[in-house]
Amino acid sequence: MPWATSVASGYTLLRDPHHNKGLAFTEEERDGHYLRGLLPPAVLSQELQIKKFMNTLRQYQTPLQRYIAMMNLQETDERLFYKLLIDNVVELLPFVYTPTVGEACQKYGSIFGRPQGLYVSLKDKGKVLEVLRNWPHRNIQVICVTDGERILGLGDLGCQGMGIPVGKLALYTALGGVDPSVCLPITIDVGTNNEKLLNDEFYIGLRQKRATGEEYDELIEEFMAAVKQFYGEKVLIQFEDFANHNAFDLLEKYSKSHLVFNDDIQGTASVVLAGLLAALKMVGGTLAEQTYLFLGAGEAGTGIAELIALEISKQTNAPIEECRKKVWLVDSKGLIVDSRKGSLQPFKKPWAHEHEPLKTLYDAVQSIKPTVLIGTSGVGRTFTKEIIEAMSSFNERPIIFSLSNPTSHSECTAEQAYTWSQGRSIFASGSPFAPVEYEGKTFVPGQSNNAYIFPGLGLGLVISGAVRVHEDMLLAASKALADQATQDNFEKGSIFPPFTSIRKISAHIAAAVAAKAYELGLATRLPPPSDLVKYAENCMYTPVYRNYR
Ligand code: NAD
Repeated sequence: MPWATSVASGYTLLRDPHHNKGLAFTEEERDGHYLRGLLPPAVLSQELQIKKFMNTLRQYQTPLQRYIAMMNLQETDERLFYKLLIDNVVELLPFVYTPTVGEACQKYGSIFGRPQGLYVSLKDKGKVLEVLRNWPHRNIQVICVTDGERILGLGDLGCQGMGIPVGKLALYTALGGVDPSVCLPITIDVGTNNEKLLNDEFYIGLRQKRATGEEYDELIEEFMAAVKQFYGEKVLIQFEDFANHNAFDLLEKYSKSHLVFNDDIQGTASVVLAGLLAALKMVGGTLAEQTYLFLGAGEAGTGIAELIALEISKQTNAPIEECRKKVWLVDSKGLIVDSRKGSLQPFKKPWAHEHEPLKTLYDAVQSIKPTVLIGTSGVGRTFTKEIIEAMSSFNERPIIFSLSNPTSHSECTAEQAYTWSQGRSIFASGSPFAPVEYEGKTFVPGQSNNAYIFPGLGLGLVISGAVRVHEDMLLAASKALADQATQDNFEKGSIFPPFTSIRKISAHIAAAVAAKAYELGLATRLPPPSDLVKYAENCMYTPVYRNYR
């Protein structure tokens, strides 16, 4: 095998996470690769090592301990890490990603061990290309980058946001089958406005206030140019957890010249639209027949709103401006209405419809009488009993999505949504909730987790060699996900298919996205494969241990 020639031996091999197999090296491999004596005599299969690791993980008292153990495993035995994650995805996802990754980022300086990912800071201005050259792999196809300014719902965590791109790319691999050697997590450090971190002796980032304006733009520009120059046109750059005052501008600016995707805006929108399409299979009716009200008009809220309007426009042939009128948003100052237009941020302006000003969500619910209520405010417990009761008074099956993360920021709990609507609401949340018993029925709340969409979307872009992300690809991904939800899921109250089949789901999403890329002339990997689902499955990375000669 071609790679075998570059595999290290002996002590170095055991410390190379890409090739290490722990105790699974066979007797022949121990002889052939100078490992005799460096390992205890027992030979344990990958399965047995997974069993052992799961036993250990389950004994840890706190989620953060599990996170640290998982990250250590990723840095010592990559294939064991991914196989463990894939085989136990439902149990382990909350530790590798939200909610635990949020706590990990808050404490990143204190738990910092072996560095992961690539750091580009203001100190590297003029030298970003050199920084990229220091990364050990050249064939990068997916970059996830953050500037740490809005980590989950936790705010500015500066350089410690690195946990997010690391976690996201682990999911690209585990859930979407993108080879880990083509993934690169990056944190751009322009300082932080988080006083607590600036005063923390263990903080790992630049100890200064955030650079803004020209200084910020120049570093980002240099970074974007360097990435394209070094990795080419087809490298996917996923913007992650940028504050909304930069996120929209960056997406707008670079979507014309780069293959860029913002998961907070577009990925969220795609997964929520999938949830709505599936919910309507339970409730009946079309997207255009619903009235939507959002609490929170930031990246997630306006991103979802726009994709809903776009899909309604596609389905009805009505102009998008008309379709936007079915969607209302409430921000921290109340309902977004035309009289506020002068003071609204640009991304909120399309949603300023004609209406009298209203201060509270409750008043907006009473006045607009939405069929769908979506929480993207980052503020917990804002869907109160009276709001859910109001939703349930004029809807037989109110659709209620409480998307804010982490769990403590969720607008309501699953139990509240089911109890206060007397078991009638169709509920989904951003963070996971356990099943709820209500009057003898068990409801399994769906988790509107971006991880349903972005790994498959990324795989689809990679396997088709796409050069740009088009909004139709997001719609295709939504439909592919909605199609994976079965009657059996609906009967349990869940609008999303179980995560246990995520690799199959990702393959279908990848195929739908790739098909769109070919249809739109944005794919460069030609000719198109005849069976895209099968092709996507075949392209997926599988982390079984390799045999060394
Ligand atoms: P953001 O900062 O861009 O937007 C937050 C919005 O909420 C702003 O418009 C703000 O004005 C508004 N807001 C703040 N306090 C409010 C209040 N008391 N009442 C009404 N509105 C208020 O953040 P974002 O990226 O849009 O993320 C928002 C939340 O959504 C976060 O908690 C995030 O974790 C969650 N989220 C969930 C998913 C998912 O479930 N798949 C995906 C992305 C984001």
